[in-house]
Amino acid sequence: MRLDDVNAGDIEVRRGGGSKAAIGGGLGLGGLLLLLVINMIAGGGGNASDIGQVLNGLQQGDGVSVEGETVRGDTLEGQELFAGKMMTLLGAYWGDEAKAMDIKFVEPGFVVFDSPTQTGGCGVGQPEAGPFYCPGDQKIYIDFGFYSQLESQLGFDGDFAMAYVIAHEYGHHIQNLLGVMDRRGGGNAQSVRVELQADCFAGAWASSAKADGRLEAGDFDEAIRAANAVGDDAISGGRAGRDTFTHGSSAEREKWFRQGFDSGDPSSCRTGA
Ligand SMILES: [Zn+2]
Repeated sequence: MRLDDVNAGDIEVRRGGGSKAAIGGGLGLGGLLLLLVINMIAGGGGNASDIGQVLNGLQQGDGVSVEGETVRGDTLEGQELFAGKMMTLLGAYWGDEAKAMDIKFVEPGFVVFDSPTQTGGCGVGQPEAGPFYCPGDQKIYIDFGFYSQLESQLGFDGDFAMAYVIAHEYGHHIQNLLGVMDRRGGGNAQSVRVELQADCFAGAWASSAKADGRLEAGDFDEAIRAANAVGDDAISGGRAGRDTFTHGSSAEREKWFRQGFDSGDPSSCRTGA
């Protein structure tokens, strides 16, 4: 992905809040995976997902980081620099789209953390939960250390895989602005519709990145591989039943990312969410 000309936005960094709290049994990597999370509803209400409930059940205490420091974009390096640049691109894209959607646009925050951290309305965020968006404080959370583990375990890699992940979480922020995240009820089926729409929103942004000449050879395939890797069927090794899906199958996730990419139009992301 070509980003040399992009100025990185500021991000919030929270380091070393303390030891990593164990999060009780029954949640193997499969359940936690992902990514992408977590249909956590603002306020930690009754519609939180399994992971959300776990997070909300944890007590805030020693070792939980709360406030981070804001790090200026022009001082960022590595993955944080990449994230800061992604936030700039996504902010520009969605700022324009929000006008067409007739919604008031505010940019989400972006928090890098490396140990349990207090969110504003989504309980204590765990690195092991994978990247997530919290509607309550309108922030995207990511632990790059754990993300790197995910990359190797899921078998996806490349800068555009991470671009897909960040764009997906940003898609949840747009859904929050649209009121999609507030729709209660619907259980797992609604969760899947919300997640697939976030994939489609990520694809719509990716289309704009392509139009701007930012995609390099292989980038699109990196996103497609990542979307497949985080399908509920892929994560469960095909053992999970459809009614347990919270994010959609690999085929569905690819399909909706492609829908956004091919149309370049978020209004085409009609997943029923
Ligand atoms: Zn998601």
